[in-house]
Amino acid sequence: MTGEQLTPVAALRRIAFLLERAREDTYKVKAFRSAAATILPLSDDELAGHVTAGTLTDLPGIGASSARVITDAWHGEVPVRLAVLEEEHAGPLAPGGRELRAALRGDLHTHSDWSDGGSPIEEMAFTAIELGHDYLVLTDHSPRLKVARGLSAERLARQLGVVDAVNEHLGGSGFRLLKGIEVDILDDGSLDQTDEMLARLDLRVASVHSKLAMDADAMTRRMVAAVAQPFTNVLGHCTGRLVTGNRGVRPGSKFDARKVFEACVENDVAVEINSRPERRDPPTKLLELARDIGCLFSIDSDAHAPGQLDMLDYGCERAEQAGIDPERIVNTWPAERLLSWASR
Ligand SMILES: [Zn+2]
Ligand SMILES: [Zn+2]
Repeated sequence: MTGEQLTPVAALRRIAFLLERAREDTYKVKAFRSAAATILPLSDDELAGHVTAGTLTDLPGIGASSARVITDAWHGEVPVRLAVLEEEHAGPLAPGGRELRAALRGDLHTHSDWSDGGSPIEEMAFTAIELGHDYLVLTDHSPRLKVARGLSAERLARQLGVVDAVNEHLGGSGFRLLKGIEVDILDDGSLDQTDEMLARLDLRVASVHSKLAMDADAMTRRMVAAVAQPFTNVLGHCTGRLVTGNRGVRPGSKFDARKVFEACVENDVAVEINSRPERRDPPTKLLELARDIGCLFSIDSDAHAPGQLDMLDYGCERAEQAGIDPERIVNTWPAERLLSWASR
Protein backbone atom coordinates (compact mmCIF):
# COMPACT_ATOMS: atom_id res chain seq x y z
CA MET A 1 0.00 0.00 0.00
CA THR A 2 1.43 3.40 -0.93
CA GLY A 3 0.54 6.78 0.51
CA GLU A 4 -1.01 7.87 -2.79
CA GLN A 5 -3.80 5.35 -2.58
CA LEU A 6 -7.10 5.59 -0.81
CA THR A 7 -6.59 4.38 2.77
CA PRO A 8 -9.16 1.98 4.24
CA VAL A 9 -10.42 4.72 6.58
CA ALA A 10 -10.75 7.17 3.68
CA ALA A 11 -12.63 4.57 1.61
CA LEU A 12 -15.10 3.92 4.46
CA ARG A 13 -15.61 7.65 5.06
CA ARG A 14 -16.15 8.30 1.36
CA ILE A 15 -18.77 5.53 1.13
CA ALA A 16 -20.58 6.97 4.17
CA PHE A 17 -20.42 10.47 2.69
CA LEU A 18 -21.92 9.35 -0.63
CA LEU A 19 -24.69 7.38 1.09
CA GLU A 20 -25.57 10.33 3.36
CA ARG A 21 -25.79 12.84 0.54
CA ALA A 22 -28.03 10.36 -1.32
CA ARG A 23 -30.28 10.30 1.79
CA GLU A 24 -29.83 6.58 2.41
CA ASP A 25 -31.05 5.05 5.66
CA THR A 26 -28.79 6.00 8.51
CA TYR A 27 -28.34 2.41 9.72
CA LYS A 28 -26.64 1.55 6.43
CA VAL A 29 -24.33 4.52 6.80
CA LYS A 30 -23.57 3.90 10.47
CA ALA A 31 -21.95 0.56 9.64
CA PHE A 32 -19.27 2.25 7.54
CA ARG A 33 -18.70 5.11 9.96
CA SER A 34 -18.32 2.80 12.95
CA ALA A 35 -15.96 0.53 10.99
CA ALA A 36 -13.83 3.59 10.19
CA ALA A 37 -13.82 4.55 13.87
CA THR A 38 -12.74 1.02 14.83
CA ILE A 39 -9.73 0.83 12.52
CA LEU A 40 -8.62 4.46 12.86
CA PRO A 41 -6.58 3.87 16.06
CA LEU A 42 -4.97 0.62 14.78
CA SER A 43 -1.33 0.64 13.75
CA ASP A 44 -0.44 -0.38 10.18
CA ASP A 45 0.88 -3.68 11.51
CA GLU A 46 -2.25 -4.40 13.48
CA LEU A 47 -4.47 -3.67 10.49
CA ALA A 48 -2.24 -5.74 8.18
CA GLY A 49 -2.45 -8.62 10.66
CA HIS A 50 -6.26 -8.59 10.59
CA VAL A 51 -6.43 -8.26 6.80
CA THR A 52 -4.05 -11.13 6.10
CA ALA A 53 -5.57 -13.38 8.79
CA GLY A 54 -9.10 -12.53 7.62
CA THR A 55 -10.10 -11.55 11.15
CA LEU A 56 -11.44 -8.02 10.53
CA THR A 57 -14.98 -9.08 11.40
CA ASP A 58 -13.78 -10.09 14.88
CA LEU A 59 -13.32 -6.38 15.59
CA PRO A 60 -16.26 -4.47 17.09
CA GLY A 61 -18.49 -2.73 14.53
CA ILE A 62 -17.00 -4.40 11.46
CA GLY A 63 -19.33 -6.52 9.35
CA ALA A 64 -18.71 -8.44 6.15
CA SER A 65 -19.22 -5.53 3.75
CA SER A 66 -16.99 -3.13 5.71
CA ALA A 67 -14.33 -5.86 5.93
CA ARG A 68 -14.40 -6.24 2.14
CA VAL A 69 -13.97 -2.49 1.68
CA ILE A 70 -11.05 -2.42 4.11
CA THR A 71 -9.39 -5.42 2.48
CA ASP A 72 -9.71 -4.03 -1.05
CA ALA A 73 -8.42 -0.59 -0.05
CA TRP A 74 -5.56 -2.14 1.92
CA HIS A 75 -4.53 -4.04 -1.22
CA GLY A 76 -4.56 -0.76 -3.16
CA GLU A 77 -7.74 -1.54 -5.07
CA VAL A 78 -10.82 0.66 -5.29
CA PRO A 79 -13.50 -1.20 -3.31
CA VAL A 80 -16.36 -2.35 -5.56
CA ARG A 81 -18.94 -0.80 -3.24
CA LEU A 82 -17.21 2.56 -3.54
CA ALA A 83 -16.82 2.36 -7.31
CA VAL A 84 -20.55 1.70 -7.70
CA LEU A 85 -21.47 4.60 -5.41
CA GLU A 86 -19.11 6.99 -7.20
CA GLU A 87 -20.74 5.98 -10.46
CA GLU A 88 -24.29 6.46 -9.14
CA HIS A 89 -24.00 9.31 -6.68
CA ALA A 90 -20.93 11.49 -7.21
CA GLY A 91 -21.24 14.82 -9.02
CA PRO A 92 -23.51 17.77 -8.23
CA LEU A 93 -26.80 16.96 -6.51
CA ALA A 94 -28.61 19.59 -8.58
CA PRO A 95 -27.86 20.67 -12.15
CA GLY A 96 -28.41 24.39 -11.48
CA GLY A 97 -26.79 26.88 -9.12
CA ARG A 98 -23.22 25.76 -9.78
CA GLU A 99 -21.75 29.25 -9.89
CA LEU A 100 -23.47 30.23 -6.69
CA ARG A 101 -22.36 27.00 -5.02
CA ALA A 102 -18.77 27.88 -5.91
CA ALA A 103 -19.28 31.31 -4.34
CA LEU A 104 -20.43 29.92 -0.97
CA ARG A 105 -17.70 30.00 1.65
CA GLY A 106 -19.46 28.10 4.38
CA ASP A 107 -22.62 26.85 6.01
CA LEU A 108 -24.53 28.46 8.88
CA HIS A 109 -26.81 25.63 10.03
CA THR A 110 -25.48 22.15 10.94
CA HIS A 111 -25.96 19.53 13.66
CA SER A 112 -23.66 17.09 15.44
CA ASP A 113 -24.34 14.07 17.63
CA TRP A 114 -24.52 16.43 20.61
CA SER A 115 -28.16 16.97 19.58
CA ASP A 116 -29.91 15.00 16.82
CA GLY A 117 -27.09 14.72 14.28
CA GLY A 118 -25.40 11.40 13.56
CA SER A 119 -21.70 12.27 13.69
CA PRO A 120 -19.20 13.85 16.08
CA ILE A 121 -18.32 17.53 15.76
CA GLU A 122 -14.83 16.85 14.37
CA GLU A 123 -16.19 14.61 11.59
CA MET A 124 -18.53 17.41 10.50
CA ALA A 125 -15.57 19.81 10.52
CA PHE A 126 -13.28 17.47 8.54
CA THR A 127 -15.95 16.97 5.90
CA ALA A 128 -16.58 20.73 5.67
CA ILE A 129 -12.85 21.19 5.00
CA GLU A 130 -12.98 18.51 2.30
CA LEU A 131 -15.89 20.37 0.69
CA GLY A 132 -13.76 23.51 0.56
CA HIS A 133 -15.62 25.51 3.21
CA ASP A 134 -13.80 28.36 4.98
CA TYR A 135 -16.16 28.07 7.92
CA LEU A 136 -18.90 25.94 9.39
CA VAL A 137 -21.29 27.11 12.07
CA LEU A 138 -22.22 24.34 14.50
CA THR A 139 -25.87 24.93 15.44
CA ASP A 140 -27.15 22.17 17.68
CA HIS A 141 -30.64 22.48 19.16
CA SER A 142 -31.74 24.36 22.29
CA PRO A 143 -33.09 22.82 25.56
CA ARG A 144 -36.84 22.78 24.85
CA LEU A 145 -36.42 20.54 21.82
CA LYS A 146 -36.13 17.43 23.98
CA VAL A 147 -36.75 14.96 21.11
CA ALA A 148 -33.59 16.32 19.50
CA ARG A 149 -31.59 16.26 22.77
CA GLY A 150 -31.40 20.06 22.81
CA LEU A 151 -28.42 21.43 24.74
CA SER A 152 -28.87 22.99 28.18
CA ALA A 153 -26.77 26.08 28.96
CA GLU A 154 -24.28 23.78 30.73
CA ARG A 155 -23.94 21.37 27.80
CA LEU A 156 -23.64 24.25 25.36
CA ALA A 157 -20.88 25.75 27.50
CA ARG A 158 -19.06 22.41 27.38
CA GLN A 159 -19.58 22.19 23.62
CA LEU A 160 -17.91 25.59 23.17
CA GLY A 161 -14.81 24.13 24.82
CA VAL A 162 -14.86 21.27 22.31
CA VAL A 163 -15.18 23.74 19.42
CA ASP A 164 -12.12 25.58 20.74
CA ALA A 165 -10.23 22.29 20.92
CA VAL A 166 -11.21 21.30 17.37
CA ASN A 167 -10.07 24.69 16.07
CA GLU A 168 -6.79 24.36 17.93
CA HIS A 169 -6.29 20.93 16.40
CA LEU A 170 -7.03 22.30 12.93
CA GLY A 171 -4.82 25.35 13.51
CA GLY A 172 -3.23 26.65 10.34
CA SER A 173 -5.71 25.00 7.97
CA GLY A 174 -7.44 28.34 7.38
CA PHE A 175 -10.76 26.71 8.25
CA ARG A 176 -12.81 27.86 11.22
CA LEU A 177 -15.47 26.00 13.12
CA LEU A 178 -17.80 28.70 14.44
CA LYS A 179 -19.95 28.63 17.56
CA GLY A 180 -23.67 28.69 16.95
CA ILE A 181 -27.09 27.43 17.89
CA GLU A 182 -30.40 26.62 16.29
CA VAL A 183 -32.45 28.18 19.01
CA ASP A 184 -36.16 27.45 19.36
CA ILE A 185 -38.54 30.35 18.96
CA LEU A 186 -40.87 30.00 21.95
CA ASP A 187 -44.62 30.74 21.77
CA ASP A 188 -44.15 34.40 22.69
CA GLY A 189 -41.25 34.95 20.28
CA SER A 190 -38.53 34.78 22.93
CA LEU A 191 -35.51 32.53 22.39
CA ASP A 192 -34.87 29.24 24.17
CA GLN A 193 -31.41 29.95 25.59
CA THR A 194 -29.95 32.35 28.14
CA ASP A 195 -28.72 35.74 26.91
CA GLU A 196 -25.42 34.95 28.54
CA MET A 197 -24.92 31.86 26.35
CA LEU A 198 -26.33 33.50 23.21
CA ALA A 199 -23.79 36.29 23.70
CA ARG A 200 -20.92 33.78 23.69
CA LEU A 201 -21.82 32.48 20.24
CA ASP A 202 -20.65 33.67 16.84
CA LEU A 203 -24.03 33.26 15.12
CA ARG A 204 -27.58 32.20 15.99
CA VAL A 205 -30.25 30.63 13.80
CA ALA A 206 -33.75 31.00 15.29
CA SER A 207 -36.42 28.50 14.20
CA VAL A 208 -39.97 27.51 15.06
CA HIS A 209 -40.24 23.80 15.97
CA SER A 210 -43.40 23.74 18.11
CA LYS A 211 -47.04 24.76 17.64
CA LEU A 212 -46.49 25.16 13.91
CA ALA A 213 -50.25 25.28 13.38
CA MET A 214 -51.00 28.28 15.64
CA ASP A 215 -53.27 30.88 14.08
CA ALA A 216 -51.76 33.28 11.58
CA ASP A 217 -51.94 36.42 13.72
CA ALA A 218 -50.29 34.79 16.70
CA MET A 219 -47.63 33.17 14.49
CA THR A 220 -46.87 36.51 12.83
CA ARG A 221 -46.45 38.21 16.23
CA ARG A 222 -44.30 35.30 17.41
CA MET A 223 -41.98 35.40 14.39
CA VAL A 224 -41.71 39.20 14.26
CA ALA A 225 -40.81 39.21 17.96
CA ALA A 226 -38.16 36.51 17.40
CA VAL A 227 -36.63 38.38 14.48
CA ALA A 228 -36.48 41.52 16.63
CA GLN A 229 -34.54 39.73 19.41
CA PRO A 230 -31.11 41.32 19.57
CA PHE A 231 -29.28 37.99 19.17
CA THR A 232 -31.18 36.63 16.16
CA ASN A 233 -29.08 36.48 12.97
CA VAL A 234 -30.90 33.98 10.73
CA LEU A 235 -34.55 32.98 10.54
CA GLY A 236 -34.42 29.19 10.00
CA HIS A 237 -36.83 27.24 7.71
CA CYS A 238 -39.56 29.87 8.11
CA THR A 239 -42.68 27.83 7.27
CA GLY A 240 -41.63 24.52 8.86
CA ARG A 241 -43.26 22.62 6.01
CA LEU A 242 -42.17 19.11 4.99
CA VAL A 243 -42.69 18.21 1.35
CA THR A 244 -41.19 14.71 1.16
CA GLY A 245 -39.14 12.19 3.13
CA ASN A 246 -39.49 9.60 5.87
CA ARG A 247 -40.90 12.08 8.42
CA GLY A 248 -43.95 12.48 6.20
CA VAL A 249 -45.35 15.73 4.86
CA ARG A 250 -46.99 18.67 6.60
CA PRO A 251 -48.17 22.08 5.42
CA GLY A 252 -46.24 25.20 6.35
CA SER A 253 -47.24 27.52 9.18
CA LYS A 254 -49.54 30.41 8.29
CA PHE A 255 -48.30 33.94 8.96
CA ASP A 256 -48.12 37.37 7.34
CA ALA A 257 -44.93 36.80 5.38
CA ARG A 258 -44.64 40.45 4.33
CA LYS A 259 -44.60 41.58 7.95
CA VAL A 260 -42.09 38.92 8.95
CA PHE A 261 -39.72 39.64 6.06
CA GLU A 262 -39.98 43.40 6.61
CA ALA A 263 -38.98 42.75 10.22
CA CYS A 264 -35.99 40.76 8.90
CA VAL A 265 -34.87 43.73 6.79
CA GLU A 266 -35.37 46.15 9.67
CA ASN A 267 -33.39 43.97 12.09
CA ASP A 268 -30.71 42.88 9.61
CA VAL A 269 -31.72 39.23 9.93
CA ALA A 270 -31.12 36.81 7.04
CA VAL A 271 -33.90 34.59 5.74
CA GLU A 272 -32.63 31.03 5.48
CA ILE A 273 -32.97 29.08 2.27
CA ASN A 274 -33.07 25.62 3.81
CA SER A 275 -31.49 23.24 1.29
CA ARG A 276 -32.93 19.98 2.59
CA PRO A 277 -35.09 18.33 -0.09
CA GLU A 278 -37.61 17.47 2.67
CA ARG A 279 -38.06 21.15 3.42
CA ARG A 280 -37.45 23.35 0.35
CA ASP A 281 -38.22 26.21 2.69
CA PRO A 282 -39.23 29.00 2.02
CA PRO A 283 -41.58 27.95 -0.76
CA THR A 284 -40.89 29.73 -4.05
CA LYS A 285 -43.58 32.41 -3.66
CA LEU A 286 -42.24 33.42 -0.26
CA LEU A 287 -38.67 33.27 -1.49
CA GLU A 288 -39.55 35.74 -4.24
CA LEU A 289 -41.41 37.96 -1.77
CA ALA A 290 -38.37 38.07 0.53
CA ARG A 291 -36.21 38.88 -2.49
CA ASP A 292 -38.50 41.77 -3.50
CA ILE A 293 -38.66 43.13 0.05
CA GLY A 294 -34.86 43.29 0.12
CA CYS A 295 -33.96 40.59 2.64
CA LEU A 296 -30.55 39.11 3.19
CA PHE A 297 -30.37 35.33 2.80
CA SER A 298 -28.30 32.40 3.95
CA ILE A 299 -28.18 29.12 2.05
CA ASP A 300 -27.87 26.38 4.65
CA SER A 301 -27.62 22.60 4.55
CA ASP A 302 -29.24 21.92 7.95
CA ALA A 303 -27.00 18.84 7.77
CA HIS A 304 -27.51 16.11 10.37
CA ALA A 305 -24.69 13.98 8.91
CA PRO A 306 -21.43 14.87 7.13
CA GLY A 307 -22.64 13.84 3.66
CA GLN A 308 -25.66 16.10 4.03
CA LEU A 309 -23.34 19.12 4.09
CA ASP A 310 -23.33 18.73 0.32
CA MET A 311 -27.07 19.47 0.11
CA LEU A 312 -26.20 23.15 -0.35
CA ASP A 313 -26.42 22.27 -4.06
CA TYR A 314 -30.22 22.18 -3.82
CA GLY A 315 -30.48 25.55 -2.09
CA CYS A 316 -28.13 27.16 -4.59
CA GLU A 317 -30.26 25.95 -7.47
CA ARG A 318 -33.37 27.48 -5.89
CA ALA A 319 -31.64 30.78 -5.11
CA GLU A 320 -30.38 31.01 -8.66
CA GLN A 321 -33.84 30.26 -10.07
CA ALA A 322 -35.23 33.05 -7.88
CA GLY A 323 -32.58 35.40 -9.23
CA ILE A 324 -31.11 36.29 -5.85
CA ASP A 325 -27.99 38.45 -5.97
CA PRO A 326 -25.07 36.46 -4.44
CA GLU A 327 -23.97 39.61 -2.61
CA ARG A 328 -27.16 39.38 -0.54
CA ILE A 329 -26.35 35.81 0.53
CA VAL A 330 -24.36 36.17 3.74
CA ASN A 331 -22.47 32.89 3.42
CA THR A 332 -20.81 34.13 0.23
CA TRP A 333 -19.06 36.60 2.53
CA PRO A 334 -15.60 36.01 4.01
CA ALA A 335 -15.58 34.90 7.66
CA GLU A 336 -14.57 38.31 9.03
CA ARG A 337 -17.43 40.08 7.31
CA LEU A 338 -19.90 37.40 8.36
CA LEU A 339 -18.75 37.59 11.97
CA SER A 340 -18.93 41.36 12.18
CA TRP A 341 -22.43 41.27 10.66
CA ALA A 342 -23.52 38.59 13.13
CA SER A 343 -22.12 40.43 16.14
CA ARG A 344 -23.36 43.92 15.21
ZN1 LIG B 1 -34.87 23.19 12.59
ZN1 LIG C 1 -31.59 22.28 12.04
